[in-house]
Amino acid sequence: MENMFPILIAEDNPVSRMLLEKTLIKAGYEVATVTNGREALESFSEKFFPIVLTDWMMPQMDGLQLCRAIRKNVSTGYVFIFILTARDSIDDMVAGLEAGADDYLTKPFKRAELIARLKTATRVLELEKSLKDANEEITILSITDTLTGCYNRTFMDEQLPKEIKRAIRYNHPISLVMVDIDHFKQVNDTYGHQAGDEVLKELVRSINGSIRSDVDWVARYGGEEFLVVFPETDFESAEALCERFCRNISENTIQIMENEIRITASFGVTGFTSSDTLKEVSYEAMISLADKSLYQAKEEGRNRVIGRPIDG
Ligand code: GH3
Ligand code: MG
Ligand code: MG
Ligand code: MG
Repeated sequence: MENMFPILIAEDNPVSRMLLEKTLIKAGYEVATVTNGREALESFSEKFFPIVLTDWMMPQMDGLQLCRAIRKNVSTGYVFIFILTARDSIDDMVAGLEAGADDYLTKPFKRAELIARLKTATRVLELEKSLKDANEEITILSITDTLTGCYNRTFMDEQLPKEIKRAIRYNHPISLVMVDIDHFKQVNDTYGHQAGDEVLKELVRSINGSIRSDVDWVARYGGEEFLVVFPETDFESAEALCERFCRNISENTIQIMENEIRITASFGVTGFTSSDTLKEVSYEAMISLADKSLYQAKEEGRNRVIGRPIDG
């Protein structure tokens, strides 16, 4: 079933406008009508129309001005524009196409031709949509860790500095934590790499299940090491959250095939304390603080949370 993209008709002559509207509604299109170019342009602030059928000569803003204005101002998506006019010289047609129209039809329009040309427009718009969808998918893939489905390093490197800057600008706290699975090599050695992979997926699932899905986020820093970012969260709260994660991980077993696997993890937390006035701090400095704490957690025996506030 092909798409029926909504159509905006701009035509000052009431008889022509009604005739066009009726024809298109009968053909199954969703149609809106306006009486000049200015109104047509204003309609775009309320709703996007992928197809515009415009008359040339109209008061306030004519069809050519409308073409230019749409090309300049509408960025939501591609607008396929038809000029429908009584002006039938080659020079007029060229002027219309040069103003940005995609197609040019002369009045009186022939129903079959109009419908056929609308199908051409639909093919172009469908192609545009599939390109957009593909692009979106590529964007998502480029920032996703393929094994666990959480964000990858590329996303982290791009997003984290922005989050930190925003936090400082609005004086809202932000905290982050580095998580590293303890003795993960032993999991691989004992149960195999595939089981190891499943453990990584399960860890991400469990972290994702315990954070605020709309603000907090997880990225795979590398191997069996993850970074969790808590915007709008002070150091003390982040530390308390990690204590809970740490306990949950060590108390629950992960069922993989016939094996019940137990893991523990170490946490290095950093962030702004609730009483801080936020000072400039770089992304690298925050990561490095979390990393130092993580290292200390490992040194002190693993399966624990160590934190250092930024001003500590
Ligand atoms: P520690 O408690 O000091 O962190 O010990 P560890 O064994 O966890 O740390 P180490 O850095 O010695 O080993 C990390 C292991 O993680 C080795 C590597 O094979 C494994 N690993 C990294 N990425 C993956 C992955 O994608 N899948 C699996 N199955 N294993 C991975
Ligand atoms: Mg007119
Ligand atoms: Mg490890
Ligand atoms: Mg590691």
